Amino acid sequence: MSRLFSDHFLAGLTPDERTLVEKLRTLCDTRIGPAAARVAQDDVFAWDNFRLLVEEGIIATAFPREYGGTDSRQAVRIRLIEELGRVCSASASLVTGADLSTRAITAGASDEWKRRLLPGLCSGELQAAFGLTEPGAGSDVRSLRTFMKRDGGDYIVTGEKKFITRAGTADWLVIVGRSAADNEQFIAVLIHRDSPGVTISDTVPKLGWYGVPIASIVLDGVRVPCSQRLGAEGDGFALAQDALVRARIGHASMALGRAIGAVEIASAYATDRNLFGRTLGSHQGVQWMLADMVTKLEASRALVATAAGKYDNGDEDAAIFASMAKLHATDLGMAVVTDALQLTGGRGFLQDFPLSRFFRDAKLNQIGEGSSEVHKTVIGRSIVRRIKDCDRNPALRDGPLTDY
Ligand SMILES: Cc1cc2nc3c(=O)[nH]c(=O)nc-3n(C[C@H](O)[C@H](O)[C@H](O)COP(=O)(O)OP(=O)(O)OC[C@H]3O[C@@H](n4cnc5c(N)ncnc54)[C@H](O)[C@@H]3O)c2cc1C
Repeated sequence: MSRLFSDHFLAGLTPDERTLVEKLRTLCDTRIGPAAARVAQDDVFAWDNFRLLVEEGIIATAFPREYGGTDSRQAVRIRLIEELGRVCSASASLVTGADLSTRAITAGASDEWKRRLLPGLCSGELQAAFGLTEPGAGSDVRSLRTFMKRDGGDYIVTGEKKFITRAGTADWLVIVGRSAADNEQFIAVLIHRDSPGVTISDTVPKLGWYGVPIASIVLDGVRVPCSQRLGAEGDGFALAQDALVRARIGHASMALGRAIGAVEIASAYATDRNLFGRTLGSHQGVQWMLADMVTKLEASRALVATAAGKYDNGDEDAAIFASMAKLHATDLGMAVVTDALQLTGGRGFLQDFPLSRFFRDAKLNQIGEGSSEVHKTVIGRSIVRRIKDCDRNPALRDGPLTDY
């Protein structure tokens, strides 16, 4: 059987990378897809799926080889995340979240701490959570008010973190705050969940993304040895941004995977359903809807692949392309899932039908890891900053444009 969406992106992968994608595809068909409704219904951390993804080497794609990982290119990770997004957002989020929550450790921990934590994080014996957002600092992330005050060889950390995925299950918390001594300096540290002064709330109920719970964290004078700092003092923001660029590419591919799944389901319904004496899918209005969805999705997949390639090459504009990919793919993902649900009528609204889950899950991709509005701001700001150093369009005559 062929798939509705073509496999052209697999052509750019190595044979080993293709094998991994194909293996995951089989797992999605046989285990992850059929279990997705139950995972959402249980709405506790999806341990079974997580362990399966560990066993099959999918979680390892985020980790360096020397600590048990495969250090995979984003070019292959987006294919894996897309496959998972097509059937189960929670499972896709287990892959993006494993990366987000550990990336600053990989990039910034001392060799000793990497040796202590990364093998366990890669094998799933340990869990981490990434604590950046606060009650007063979400989109405006530079207004963090978690303070780290130096006291001899320790930091005393005081603050509050909100919406933190995996906080309830994490052994280690990656906490980003600001130096009490220098307001302009951001610091990232590793804090064990059982450290005195750490309080983690109960799971906070939410609209979707069931199977990946969130909680709040209060840090009340938590003493943290400076050896648990990630990177140098002042590197905290750059480490967070590095993790977020990868996570944005992941959110984009998850949104596209889900939208691909939605189009598959809506198209199948359109051929099954008879009304007004013919199938729903034989109506031109329906075909045009499907044509728009598929065409835009293929364009967005190309943009996400470009962003992933730029990240893999270490290109300077990788972060801006990650913003464009996330903005485009997640806004499109929401629109496509909405239209797909519309095409399936009342059935789309039933809890038992996968599209209601897809619909609930789509929204967070537009909000987390920088909302669509934040990415528009970042992209727009970069355009007006760069244009003055760029080649002038040769159709213009010399002199200021205001002279026209
Ligand atoms: C399920 C879930 C999981 C999460 N997991 C984590 C996690 O693991 N770790 C973590 O640190 N954080 C996490 N977050 C937090 C998430 O990153 C933030 O919710 C997000 O960054 C937005 O911040 P906010 O919710 O405070 O919204 P606000 O900052 O209050 O923004 C509200 C709205 O205003 C819009 N807006 C902002 N600026 C502008 C502007 N200039 N112009 C126009 N509109 C604007 C935004 O787009 C947004 O829609 C999670 C959130 C959720 C819901």
